[in-house]
Amino acid sequence: MNQFIIPINDWAAGERKFRFHAGIEFFQMFDNQEILDADVNVEATVQKSGTRKVEAVLHLSGTVTVPCDRCLDPLALHVEAEPSEVFTPGEGPDWDLSQAVYDYVCLSLPLQKVHPEGECNPDTVRFLSQEERKDEEAATQNSPFAALKGLFDEK
Ligand SMILES: [Zn+2]
Repeated sequence: MNQFIIPINDWAAGERKFRFHAGIEFFQMFDNQEILDADVNVEATVQKSGTRKVEAVLHLSGTVTVPCDRCLDPLALHVEAEPSEVFTPGEGPDWDLSQAVYDYVCLSLPLQKVHPEGECNPDTVRFLSQEERKDEEAATQNSPFAALKGLFDEK
């Protein structure tokens, strides 16, 4: 898929804007299993001042849907990024911005991907918190202190 390609040779010096759209197919291309859906608009403002003097400033905005860390239901996250980095192309007549776009979308996602308080799927949360309690009980019973406690109780 050559969606994010900026042709370098076929225009004269000056500024041009390129608009791209990153949908779910784009993220699948990178084998990203975490992203369930995506709707991200990418705008590249490209400044050309010579054959190999090309710079781009990116602006990404849209939404990306990932599973919620807490309840696993789909969670739509707003993505807004304007990397301050200026991108310059390598060799070749075409400039592929895919990797940069992909990296910046991933970087702009928060570390904690959870629904706002109270908006998680209540069934899943209830189930998970029960599991957690079971784990805690198991941990207490297996601890050496639990055994000691038993000893003292017997006396
Ligand atoms: Zn949730």
